Amino acid sequence: AKAEGRATYRFYEADMSRSMEARRQLELDLREALAAEEFHLVFQPQVDSTGLKLAGFEALVRWTHALRGPVPPNDFIPIAEETGLIVPLGRWVLETACRQAVTWATSVPVAINLSPVQFKDRQLVDTVRQVLAETGLAPGRLELEITEAVLLQNDDVTMTMLHDLRALGVRIAMDDFGVGYSSLSYLRRFRFDKIKIDRSFIADLDRGTDNAAIVRAMAQLGSSLGIDTTAEGVETDEQLAIVRACGCTHIQGYLVSPPRGAMDVAALIDRLGA
Ligand code: C2E
Ligand code: CA
Ligand code: CA
Ligand code: CA
Repeated sequence: AKAEGRATYRFYEADMSRSMEARRQLELDLREALAAEEFHLVFQPQVDSTGLKLAGFEALVRWTHALRGPVPPNDFIPIAEETGLIVPLGRWVLETACRQAVTWATSVPVAINLSPVQFKDRQLVDTVRQVLAETGLAPGRLELEITEAVLLQNDDVTMTMLHDLRALGVRIAMDDFGVGYSSLSYLRRFRFDKIKIDRSFIADLDRGTDNAAIVRAMAQLGSSLGIDTTAEGVETDEQLAIVRACGCTHIQGYLVSPPRGAMDVAALIDRLGA
């Protein structure tokens, strides 16, 4: 039993160092990926829940590794955050999204995701100001999606940055609403332009749970604050009917379209009107 234990331990150790090695390799690759132009953006439409007319696009980053192929954001964003690489990557996302949005035959906003780590970068507000000036995108056409992890830091610097960003004229959306611990108290501390209801609430809607009551309450909250509520991850007509009945003003999800490459945006604008 002792030998077996040792063998198990050794196996575990080997496994550990293998995965640490894999992780270190991913980090090295990530550093090179920006220079090697292995990233690209995909865009997912957001539409109003009644007419299904185009209301905006969310830009999502994609990494196609030369050897491994596509690496999911949920695998590499955390590493980019831990290593600080999210700062240059985030800048690239911002710049690329703005540059592409000015070419679209529509004036709907483009949304990008901002990591809490980007708020540790004192240059963030200047970077956004500079990219807007360089690309010529109207500030009102840029929407910044933040999660409550940004506000969790609860410091004056972050609050000041949010207000400075707002002062540039960009829109600020609260992403993944409802899954955190204190989403409600953050709504009180900062006036968001939009609430995005987390996909987990939508996924269970047609399974007869209490989620519809919760989604309705969140939509009413948005409505009484005078802001839009977007239901994330709407995949079925039934979910659409429920979130519409609950009062969500907008939807985003595979039902309308999965995220698509820059080349397909024109076709989406045509299909969804704007
Ligand atoms: P998120 O910001 O909540 O983005 C929505 C995610 O849900 C996207 O996954 C999108 O492809 C997926 N999705 C959209 N509609 C549906 C649906 O109907 N069903 C299902 N099952 N999924 C749907 P993706 O692109 O894999 O991104 C995952 C997460 O990675 C994002 O979650 C975001 O937190 C992060 N991420 C992606 N791009 C960026 C980026 O440029 N910067 C930062 N900081 N984070 C990013
Ligand atoms: Ca998002
Ligand atoms: Ca989200
Ligand atoms: Ca998320």
